[in-house]
Amino acid sequence: MADGDTAKGSNVERGLEPSVFETRVASTQRRRHGDLHVCPECGSDLVYPTDWAPASDRQWHVALRCPECEWNGGGRYSQEMVDRLDEALDHGTEAVLDDLNILVRANMEDQIDRFVAALNGDLILPEDF
Ligand SMILES: [Zn+2]
Repeated sequence: MADGDTAKGSNVERGLEPSVFETRVASTQRRRHGDLHVCPECGSDLVYPTDWAPASDRQWHVALRCPECEWNGGGRYSQEMVDRLDEALDHGTEAVLDDLNILVRANMEDQIDRFVAALNGDLILPEDF
């Protein structure tokens, strides 16, 4: 579970390595050309739907927006294309929650390390409570 490195306090100075996020994102994000979550303007994979409605023949009208270059687009797409967008959005939600958990854990470890250091240094007195 833990890498055994946390008690030494070296993580506190270093902070949270950005690579913690990058490696995982790179391995889980699959980019397929023509997918709705990929921006045709800038290639960002953060495109999301702003509006949608069922159309005929198991198709959907979907309005799309890219948060990185402000591209707006959309059209009529097959159920399969919309399912893949839905899947990409689910992966995005999971990735954000994973990042949040990493940050929360890092902050808690930081607080615990500082509390332990303060205890060891006799810096916490009864009047602190
Ligand atoms: Zn874009």
